[in-house]
Amino acid sequence: MPNNPAAKPAHDSDDRFSPHFSVHEMLRSQTATRKKIDEQFSPSKEVMENLKFLCTNLLEKVRELNDDRPVFISSGYRCPALNEAVGGKPNSQHLTGQAADIDFGTVAANKAFFDKIKNSNLEFDQLLNEFNYDWVHISIKKEGVNRRDVRDITQ
Ligand SMILES: [Zn+2]
Repeated sequence: MPNNPAAKPAHDSDDRFSPHFSVHEMLRSQTATRKKIDEQFSPSKEVMENLKFLCTNLLEKVRELNDDRPVFISSGYRCPALNEAVGGKPNSQHLTGQAADIDFGTVAANKAFFDKIKNSNLEFDQLLNEFNYDWVHISIKKEGVNRRDVRDITQ
C-alpha cells in the first residue's frame, strides 16, 4: 500500500524559508492545532513566497541586529479562520504572510528589541509595540512602498 498523499503535510518539518527560520515556526499555532484549522498548515503559493521574503529580507536582518541571537516568533502566518479565532484585524498582514510577532518573554527585552529596530535603518513596513511590549509586531511587503510606520498599539 503506497503512502496516502492526503496524510502528508504540504511541507517537511525541516523545510526552511531562510537559514534561521523554518517553515514550521512561521506556520505553527496552538490555536489552529487545537481547533483543527487544517488550512493553517497549507498556505497558498503567494503566502509562502511572502513568508520567504519576510524571513530572508527582514527576520534574518533583525536577527543580525540582535547580535545573531535567536528571535522568537510567537505568530507568523494566520489563515483567515485562525485570524478570526485569535481576534486579529481583518486586514492583518499576518493573513498574507507579511508579518511576524516576536516575543522574548519580558517587557524589558521586547522594548530593547523594539528600540533597536526603530533606531536601525532596516527596511520594514510596520513596527508595532503591542500592548506595552507584550510582543513586537513587524512586517514587510515584497511589492510596493515599505512605510517604516512605527506605532504603539494600546487597544
Ligand atoms: Zn502581529
